[in-house]
Amino acid sequence: MKRIAIYPGSFDPITLGHVDIIERSSHIFDHVIVNLAINPAKTTLFNSKERKLMVEDAVKHISNVSVEAFDGLVVDFAKKRKASAIIRGLRAISDFEYEFQMALMNRSMAEDIDTVFLMPDERYTYLNSSIVRNVASFNGDIKNFVTNFVAQKLINKFKEEKAHELNR
Ligand code: ADP
Repeated sequence: MKRIAIYPGSFDPITLGHVDIIERSSHIFDHVIVNLAINPAKTTLFNSKERKLMVEDAVKHISNVSVEAFDGLVVDFAKKRKASAIIRGLRAISDFEYEFQMALMNRSMAEDIDTVFLMPDERYTYLNSSIVRNVASFNGDIKNFVTNFVAQKLINKFKEEKAHELNR
């Protein structure tokens, strides 16, 4: 039987830390599905279509990875895709409490699906999407943290926002 894992997240936008985790999980599982969470209650810089396009571009070099958006519970998506594991990245102790709580909650809803935690390369330990968005909004250099495609999308997004502000 194929071992399928899902990797859920907002990916607003996908960073090289996320890509590192996806590459590691693609070595362990037969197939990895990046599960782009669509949460209408959460405001994101990029809409789901833009986020999906960036994830697809960032993982195009890995053959056993696909990308799907889903707007329900992560465990429901995992069951639907017959996944046996949910992948999460653990960067520092600060991630632990929230991730622990989520993993136990997910287990209480789906006993046979395990959460697997993977650690990224040290270079990405302090990286998250919100820092990247912040730096990019002030024209900072983000090329070591995201793919060229994502860097360009961020530059364009903040250009658009600034033009919009000036017209107000
Ligand atoms: P969420 O909104 O679910 O936190 P994110 O897109 O921020 O979604 O993150 C998805 C997963 O990727 C989480 O498990 C998070 O801990 C992990 N992650 C985020 N950034 C990194 C990184 N730099 N290195 C490793 N894992 C990361």
